[in-house]
Amino acid sequence: MNVQYCHMSTLKTSPPGNSFTLVILLNLQTLPLYLVLGILLLTSGCAQIAGNLAPRIGDEIVIAGDLVHTGRPVRLWLDSGGYDAYRAHRRDFPEISSARDEPDQILRFGSMRRGLTDADLKARVRHQGWTRADLAEVIDTIVIHYDACGSSSRCFHILHDIRGLSCHFLLDVNGTIYQTLDVKERAWHAGIANDRSIGIEIAHFGAFPTAEEADRHYLVEGEQIRLNPASVVGTSAEFSPGFPSRQPLFEGEIHGQHLYQRDFTEAQYQSLEALLVSLCRSLPQIEARVPRQTSGQVKDGLRQEISGQPVAGIVGHWHVGSHKVDPGPAFDWDRIENALRDAKLPSATTVTLD
Ligand SMILES: [Zn+2]
Repeated sequence: MNVQYCHMSTLKTSPPGNSFTLVILLNLQTLPLYLVLGILLLTSGCAQIAGNLAPRIGDEIVIAGDLVHTGRPVRLWLDSGGYDAYRAHRRDFPEISSARDEPDQILRFGSMRRGLTDADLKARVRHQGWTRADLAEVIDTIVIHYDACGSSSRCFHILHDIRGLSCHFLLDVNGTIYQTLDVKERAWHAGIANDRSIGIEIAHFGAFPTAEEADRHYLVEGEQIRLNPASVVGTSAEFSPGFPSRQPLFEGEIHGQHLYQRDFTEAQYQSLEALLVSLCRSLPQIEARVPRQTSGQVKDGLRQEISGQPVAGIVGHWHVGSHKVDPGPAFDWDRIENALRDAKLPSATTVTLD
């Protein structure tokens, strides 16, 4: 995975009349006209002419204003068809409420990550806003959820329009990454972990106490199981294939509950891996590891906060919320950890959690 940074400042126009341009102008009479025009165009930078569109290839996420490539399809809150958590009103859902111009006075996120102990950093952020470097001092955790909605459009509707909450990223059945707000904002997705974390909601109907419930939104097609198209009609997942990456029905214990669940799609895993690598590389305090016991098993309960020790990393909602079970027993922790290892990120501090 090749992740590159593209800072907004590169989009500024060049100052007029730089020395190289002046040299060319002085020699106008000795060069053919087309050559002069070509050189002028090249030296001025055609992408930097006022009014030209700034190039974006559609795989960029936004981290404190910086555009960061992921190599996977991304739709930002800025884009047509994106989900905008900055909007202080519901979208137009005629069955719920008619469209309104007036905001409903409800913000869906916090404008300040709390708990900044460094006084200089706190003052700087308050007065000048976040830079990626400052944000890297504060964010050390990524929380992975399933949305229990089955599609990113339904997830955003429930989160934003109904519950007044937010999450930085939504990951749809076909692998599209939706970013709903800059990761500098304090999204409301994981209670006590909100100040230090980034949230990712993966589209999935969820884990259930019985196999029958877990299969309620799936059907058998040929030899394969797949998401039932009838369950996602009218949503952003409507035309996605929806085949689980691994075919078996998974089961496991989380917080003492025995649960059944179908796997996430291959496209979702691929996008999640790319997103995690991009975030870990950009914000290096996020350790590229998941909470495991000494036995090597992923912890099936709360992640313990050991005073004075780094316990950050990539966690499930169940690791930071005692009443939560997402992303469920089907989630492939080994796979994402291997992907992070293959990306050769800075090695994580070894801390054993029990
Ligand atoms: Zn959750």
